[in-house]
Amino acid sequence: MNHDFDVISAARNWRTDATPSANPHDVVSDVYASDVLTLEQLKTRLSKPVYKSLQATLERGETLDPSIADTVALAMKTWAMEKGATHYTHWFHPLTGATAEKHDSFVSPNGDGLAIASFSGKELIQAEPDASSFPSGGLRATFEARGYTAWDASSPAFIMRHANGATLCIPTAFASWTGEALDTKTPLLRSVEALNKAVSPALALFGASEGTRVGSSLGAEQEYFLIAEEYFYRRPDLVMTGRTLFGAQPPRGQELEDHYFGAIPDRVLSFMTDAETQMYALGIPVKTRHNEVAPGQFEIAPIYEDSNVAADHQQLIMQILRNTARKYGLVALLHEKPFAGVNGSGKHCNWSMATNAGENLLEPGDTPHENMQFLFFCSAVIKAVDDHQDLLRISVASASNDHRLGANEAPPAILSIFLGSELSEIFDRLESGQGGRGAEAGLLGLGTSVLPPLPRHAGDRNRTSPFAFTGNKFEFRAAGSSQSISFPITVLNLIVADAVTQLTADLKAKLDGGADLNSAVADLVKSTYAAHKRIVFNGDGYSDAWHQEAEHTRGLLNLRTSLDAIEHLTDDKNKALFEKFAVLSDRELAARQEIMYDIYFKTVNIEGETTEYMARTMILPAAVKYLGDLHAAGDGRAVKGVAGEVSSAADELYDAVQTLSAQNAAQGGEEVHEKAHHMRDHVLPAMLDVRKAADKLEKVVAEQHWPLPTYRQMLFVK
Ligand code: ADP
Ligand code: MG
Repeated sequence: MNHDFDVISAARNWRTDATPSANPHDVVSDVYASDVLTLEQLKTRLSKPVYKSLQATLERGETLDPSIADTVALAMKTWAMEKGATHYTHWFHPLTGATAEKHDSFVSPNGDGLAIASFSGKELIQAEPDASSFPSGGLRATFEARGYTAWDASSPAFIMRHANGATLCIPTAFASWTGEALDTKTPLLRSVEALNKAVSPALALFGASEGTRVGSSLGAEQEYFLIAEEYFYRRPDLVMTGRTLFGAQPPRGQELEDHYFGAIPDRVLSFMTDAETQMYALGIPVKTRHNEVAPGQFEIAPIYEDSNVAADHQQLIMQILRNTARKYGLVALLHEKPFAGVNGSGKHCNWSMATNAGENLLEPGDTPHENMQFLFFCSAVIKAVDDHQDLLRISVASASNDHRLGANEAPPAILSIFLGSELSEIFDRLESGQGGRGAEAGLLGLGTSVLPPLPRHAGDRNRTSPFAFTGNKFEFRAAGSSQSISFPITVLNLIVADAVTQLTADLKAKLDGGADLNSAVADLVKSTYAAHKRIVFNGDGYSDAWHQEAEHTRGLLNLRTSLDAIEHLTDDKNKALFEKFAVLSDRELAARQEIMYDIYFKTVNIEGETTEYMARTMILPAAVKYLGDLHAAGDGRAVKGVAGEVSSAADELYDAVQTLSAQNAAQGGEEVHEKAHHMRDHVLPAMLDVRKAADKLEKVVAEQHWPLPTYRQMLFVK
């Protein structure tokens, strides 16, 4: 079986099939947001009073006036049908981490054997999909399976196209009939509101005008792998689990680092351009694309947006990458660690806070006033990350991300903040009472309550930090490539809301006591930094020394595996926090924990079963067949030598499979967390033993007998 040839010919077919568009359109004016029902579109289609009322909902967060729903629905339907849509769907984010849709046709029979197109306000605002199979973590029993979707007017409706038609997609929240959130959007929207409620009063103290609203911005950098589709289907592990459960290291990995930022292969570039054009049509502002560190690894990143819209767009980006790759004979692997021993994929989440007037609260600025405000909010983030290291770690916990976090190429499981040397120095000097920016800069000290200009850009970069200040935003790098970014953003919004609330109360007390704003803020920044600077670390996050120091000297949390982290989601501190800011109730939080355990358990369970299946039905038979050939080849020294090697690795594999088989059959307990722990503590190690023996075999069995495409083939044939 020579896989390379099949794949090369598939790639050739792609080349002849693809017809480059002779007359490319102007992407910016013809394509961008052409499939999005933008506010401008709505404005031209709605009467002034209706538009105004809708705008109040969108811009000031006022409750939607149900009496305008019919009018808006009609405008939406007309627009969508002009775009060729025949169906509409409430598009939502259940707790599977993916998105869900249930299409309904616009067609309504009118009684004369004919049909009219209809779509009412009621259908726009709420739907009741029979979505009883989505995880609810015990929030609803099957007999009370009703779940409702409710229109999220703050994320624009859009058209999803396929070869034979188009569907109007209406972003919605998804909740049980008791009103409990069953999705990732609802808590995200609640957390944005919590952030607004916490930060607006603080801004007022800094002189912000009345009516100023605050939200969070998010830009997510998506990493992924591409491999030839042919190989994908020959690997049951990739098909079933998204990662390779077997595979010996190729003679060449990423040592040469010649792939990183290298020229993008033709087929890949065609794929990217196609995917990006679809994203543009959906108003997703994709900006950068490049090769990543590992061979076959790439990155795509949009420009940041309002975090709720960014989360919706992020789901669409993943979907479009997956769908479009197929058109080019490729498969996009979004798993955090598709190939052992090769860099994994993450999704850096760049986060900041901004006002409705567009002011970024994490922009250092260059006037003293802006600096005071910046230092206040920056301290709040430092405090938030220190107070809630556990929650940030939990927000990225998954079986797949465990293969990446803490390994030598991704942020460690320990949370810390990288501030960069300049900003650190400013905080250090403030803390020690020196003020200013350093002697060389010759700037004023804090005594005059005038702060120096802050650096516009962090001077240095640090790839090893899980949470880095990068000029005017924080970059949370521990998020996994396949996950929804909604929960990490929810947690960021929530923990910063908490810290800002506390600091604002302190600041108010100081002001009420007669202090002036500048010295009160300076005082506060100083004490906050002193209390939380243990979380600031500018060194090498990969080093053993840091692990020692973080855990033993600084007392930072090191929640190595997902299960270590998930356990803490329902700690009293966290229950109180989610409840206080009305982001998740105790019941909703407990449900999420249950779902996280359940997904972990199922993920590893499928991996364990797949490992056993492949070892038994593909790899052992290949070894046996080869041994048969060797026996038939006589008893020369080489033949006997090779047969000995194959035979001993095959024995090892056989024994390891027996052990894995027993662990797969065992349960570990009745409760879902017990089952999850069984997977981590017994199934994963047994899988590793199977893999070790199988990878040995891969190196000694004749290539023509080997049943699986190898790492060399998957990573290097483009
Ligand atoms: P990197 O060097 O890490 O790739 P970039 O400057 O290219 O950094 O930005 C990465 C992401 O950060 C992009 O999505 C970008 O739009 C986003 N970003 C830039 N400024 C902000 C901000 N103020 N808030 C949130 N995200 C931002
Ligand atoms: Mg980055």
